[in-house]
Amino acid sequence: MIDRYNELIEIINKLNYEYYTLDKPSVSDQEYDRYMQELLKIEENNPDIIRDDSPSVRVGGKVLDNFVKVTHEIPMLSLGNVFNEDELIKFDERIRKEIPNPSYVCELKIDGLSVSITYENGKLVRGATRGDGVIGEDITNNVKTIKTIPLQLKEKIDIEIRGEIYMSKKTFNKLNDERLHNNEELFQNPRNAAAGSVRQLDSSIAAKRNLDAFLYHLPNALEYDINTHYEALEYMKQLGFTVNPNIKKVNNIKEVIEYVDYWTTHRDELPYEIDGIVIKLNDLNAQQKLGFTAKYPKWATAYKFPALEVLTKLKDIIFTVGRTGQVTPNAVLEPVKVAGSTISRATLHNEENVINKGFKIGDIVSIRKAGDVIPEVVEPIVDRRDGTEKDFEMINTCPICGSNLTKEETQADYFCLNEKCPARKVESLIHFVSRDAMNIEGLGERIMEDFYNMGYIKSFTDIYKLDSKKEELMELEGFGFKSINNLLESIENSKNNSLEKLLFGLGIRQVGSKTAKLLAKKFDTLDNLMNASFDDLKNIRDIGEKSALDIINYFKDENNIKVIEELKDIGINTEYLGIKEVTNTNDNIFNKSFVLTGTLENYTRDKLKQILEDMGGIVNSSVSKNTDVVIAGENAGSKLEKAQKLNIEIWDEKTLQDKLKQV
Ligand code: NAD
Repeated sequence: MIDRYNELIEIINKLNYEYYTLDKPSVSDQEYDRYMQELLKIEENNPDIIRDDSPSVRVGGKVLDNFVKVTHEIPMLSLGNVFNEDELIKFDERIRKEIPNPSYVCELKIDGLSVSITYENGKLVRGATRGDGVIGEDITNNVKTIKTIPLQLKEKIDIEIRGEIYMSKKTFNKLNDERLHNNEELFQNPRNAAAGSVRQLDSSIAAKRNLDAFLYHLPNALEYDINTHYEALEYMKQLGFTVNPNIKKVNNIKEVIEYVDYWTTHRDELPYEIDGIVIKLNDLNAQQKLGFTAKYPKWATAYKFPALEVLTKLKDIIFTVGRTGQVTPNAVLEPVKVAGSTISRATLHNEENVINKGFKIGDIVSIRKAGDVIPEVVEPIVDRRDGTEKDFEMINTCPICGSNLTKEETQADYFCLNEKCPARKVESLIHFVSRDAMNIEGLGERIMEDFYNMGYIKSFTDIYKLDSKKEELMELEGFGFKSINNLLESIENSKNNSLEKLLFGLGIRQVGSKTAKLLAKKFDTLDNLMNASFDDLKNIRDIGEKSALDIINYFKDENNIKVIEELKDIGINTEYLGIKEVTNTNDNIFNKSFVLTGTLENYTRDKLKQILEDMGGIVNSSVSKNTDVVIAGENAGSKLEKAQKLNIEIWDEKTLQDKLKQV
């Protein structure tokens, strides 16, 4: 037992370091909690062996050396945990032993990182992380970039306020999409993304990450003549802080359980992630009476949501081929509901992952899905095997075209290198029309696959010949006059894209959207880039030898040159249109998606598109639930109607002008 105890301390310390210091956990929170519960159980049964350095009595992680350190006069503690209704009832019983008829405040447990913010004379002077509870990191400059945190309070007072910095699901998804395009490592979840953004020495990075905050604690509220936690929250609202609107005052544990039940089933509807419910005793004098342990207050607890893990059968492992020829094993699952969606497929990433985790076909496996994050096949349940399971075997020929697969020794992935492989072709066409590439709307994955199989689109240039097939296309199921016209309009518009979109769309190895932009800016025209030497490319900052070589090889290939010549003949722009590096100067426009409709007095459509894009807006041609704003001029038609139906914000020309002016 003592060996296991010491082993658990070692495991948890390592996980704490990964989670709190590196912002890069290697296991799920549920797995972490299981280790912690095991440790606590051993300590409960053997109090005499508890080590001083046990993670059960210590808060958080190590403070990074490169930040200025801040001492918290009132320690920033963690919270005790409960995992089910029984434990909640026991928490209430413990309280009631000392406090008769307690009333509670129930709060959502925001999955972010806690922050302490100090104001002097009403002015924000310091923001700090929790750190190890006593020493935190000074993140003042980053905290100041969060727009919902006031820099100046309505009253000129000295005060410390605590709360949670978080990243919304929408921002998280956008950020990871960008990182995917730029070949950067993805953040695992919004919490890590928020923590990684706040703990940056360069505050311009935090500023771009669109962080948010809910404030939930006034450390010495009694000094402000406040008697309950709920009143403290009201006072914080008055001062100008954002307090979560779903906080509720309740009268007994039964109502606490109702609140917990409600949010267990509705948490997915929130625009941010929560990992539980925090229950706090409302009366501040009663809180004082109960006091603290070394790690958490005795007057509050956190109910942790059950794991979003379910078991299902791994019916088969099939292989798909991506645009670059990368071959990926995918799990075919007995359909199962987890976190609100039905999962029947999930990526298994690569051979190494399947072998390391030991999956066999026919296994019962656990599936995890958190919020909007893609589902993960966690592990096989070895105890549930009955001997009928089959070993996994990696294939060595392409499942689509039959070519031999290749794998570099240092890499985990297999590739089909046949340029003519139909699977690669369809994926490369889908990539060509995607938003950051040629941005052609109306050619989603399904439609592209159908058009490919029906022979309408076999190459990039075929896309631009679709107008000659207009009559035929209109006959197809699911298409009508309007959708085909919208598609053709979007195709036509794409001819005027700036060079970087074409460059990204071509799918040159190592050229993500960021590199494409860099190249377009540097060389101005596609011809200049095609004539560039290896040294010209290698000398550009951020372009390594490997990328330089891939670019040179791409433009050496006769087939590629032929495609480019054809695209030029069609009239596709191959020049950089000089859109400057966009920085956020106006929140009304930056990162928002717009649709323009009707006629405006002072702007042509092209002009307005350019203005919005220069300010970091995205202009699309049709209205969907992802549209943020529709700008409607005179004689606006069906797009305006659709926007009204979907409750999308609508600006007329006057509103547009006002919004453009606001900074
Ligand atoms: P905690 O997350 O269980 O609870 C305390 C924290 O909740 C507070 O510090 C605060 O930041 C936050 N919080 C959010 N909303 C709140 C509200 N309304 N009121 C008060 N607090 C609120 O405790 P912890 O010490 O921060 O972290 C421990 C947890 O972190 C573990 O249970 C696990 O889930 C996770 N963790 C995971 C790993 C991993 O490897 N995956 C490692 C370490 C910790």
